[in-house]
Amino acid sequence: MNGQTLRVNELFGSIQGESRHAGWPCAFVRLSGCSADCRWCDTRYAVTEEGILMTLEEIVGQVTSMDFPLVEVTGGEPLEQEHTPELLRLLADKGFRVLLETGGLHQVRGIDPRVYPVIDLKPPSSGISHRIEQDNLHLALGRKPGRPQDMEFKIVVADREDYLWAKELLARHHLTEHATVSMGTVFGALPPSELASWIIQDRLPVRMQLQIHKYIWPPHSRGK
Ligand code: SF4
Repeated sequence: MNGQTLRVNELFGSIQGESRHAGWPCAFVRLSGCSADCRWCDTRYAVTEEGILMTLEEIVGQVTSMDFPLVEVTGGEPLEQEHTPELLRLLADKGFRVLLETGGLHQVRGIDPRVYPVIDLKPPSSGISHRIEQDNLHLALGRKPGRPQDMEFKIVVADREDYLWAKELLARHHLTEHATVSMGTVFGALPPSELASWIIQDRLPVRMQLQIHKYIWPPHSRGK
């Protein structure tokens, strides 16, 4: 590992709150820093706080000692740090099921194929939808959902405009034929029942999801 380091905001065990792995106990590696400045960022502390430098060996050691079979590397934006791909590879080598949660502004091409990428598609209300990395959408084409290496996209909407934007994007890229797509609401901004009614009315083939950790614990808790 040659002393490679990453800047870490927090390491903790919790319940996976999102994605097709929602509900499972999971170790989280939250890396520091992100340059995106989304309007709805719910981990601002990981962006503003400097975090601590840890070697990849130290991170893998702490994750191993937590003893969860599932581990998620998240942020901040994990792909803004140079050695994140190597950490993902090392965790997969150790036999963990590894999730990578990314804001969707960086390519996941080249990430170890044993890793499950969960890629945000930021809608207009986030303020950064124009920065979505198109290569990730192209990479999904040719794949099928439901296989171990499939890609997962996540869209969190705040209003009707976001929903219509998402619906058009999914249709344009035939994304639900090639990847798992989940859709949820910005916590406190849109009643989940409203999104549910739109999805049902349109027969939209997406998995609706709520951020269940925000229902188990107070919504702004850290380390959850
Ligand atoms: S990409 Fe994620 S961490 Fe970065 S500002 Fe947006 S929500 Fe926050």
